[in-house]
Amino acid sequence: MINHKESKLTQDTIDHKFMTKAYQLAQQADAIDEIPVGAVVVANGEIIGEGFNQSILLNDPSAHAEMLAIRNAGKKIANYRLLDCTLYVTLEPCSMCAGLLIHSRIKRLVFATTDLKTGAAGSAFDLVTNEKHNHKIELSSGIMKDECSSLLSAFFKRRRSEKKALKQLKKQANNL
Ligand SMILES: [Zn+2]
Repeated sequence: MINHKESKLTQDTIDHKFMTKAYQLAQQADAIDEIPVGAVVVANGEIIGEGFNQSILLNDPSAHAEMLAIRNAGKKIANYRLLDCTLYVTLEPCSMCAGLLIHSRIKRLVFATTDLKTGAAGSAFDLVTNEKHNHKIELSSGIMKDECSSLLSAFFKRRRSEKKALKQLKKQANNL
């Protein structure tokens, strides 16, 4: 039993280390006004792919953090299957990315905070661990939840107030 407890502790430490990297990538997205989500793909304790949201910058609705990290990892190991890899992402994947996880044959998904509106790993849809898939993905969540969700809520709060300010400006301009 002690061994089991120790290995759980080790796993938590490892998960925290890689989620910290995903969080730093989310901060990079935040810095360029993209929705702050970051992701890394890890194989044998090493990061083989990373990405952060760049949909607006790249004019690409598929440029989600997970998508970019997985593309990056596939190129790195020259394989379209990411067997025995773990994806760490700061936000619960959407349905597009959940499909991608299945196609990539990723072994494990670790996400920080849930996305109640569009999350596809159990919140809005359950596409990651759906029984109908042949491929089974291990799932963990909640690691660095507070940090990752604060970053997102601060982003959306900022964006709302910017929109409000813009509306106000337009209104003023119309009254001139
Ligand atoms: Zn996505």
